[in-house]
Amino acid sequence: MSTPKDPKSMTDAEWREHLTPEQYRVLREAGTEPPHRNAYVHHKDNGTYVCAGCGEELFSSATKYDSGSGWPAFWDAVDPAKIQQHTDTSHGMVRVEVTCATCGGHLGHVFPDGPVPTGSRYCINSAALGFKPTTE
Ligand code: FE
Repeated sequence: MSTPKDPKSMTDAEWREHLTPEQYRVLREAGTEPPHRNAYVHHKDNGTYVCAGCGEELFSSATKYDSGSGWPAFWDAVDPAKIQQHTDTSHGMVRVEVTCATCGGHLGHVFPDGPVPTGSRYCINSAALGFKPTTE
């Protein structure tokens, strides 16, 4: 996974070249992958989850938990400044969409029903993520 030099200026054609079709559908078209059958929902290795679009470090395995929803869930981000929140009224619901602050890619949504200490549940598509294992 290479990091684009300036992800904010990449054209649609460049994104299509850079991403797999499923990554493109989620990150660039705000798609949602199927629950349960996705790469990281039950992934338990220690490391850092990065944006599949730009490589920015977004979530730590230390904040990952099983929400039962079928998608990877985290109760916090590595750095709140790396994630942007937007009100999303699509599909007849009012939700808070989360996007990567660096490349603008759609990641998923954040809900106020997470565990302590934050009470937040970042419900994130596996297709929007890559994983860097902790090296000892
Ligand atoms: Fe990104």
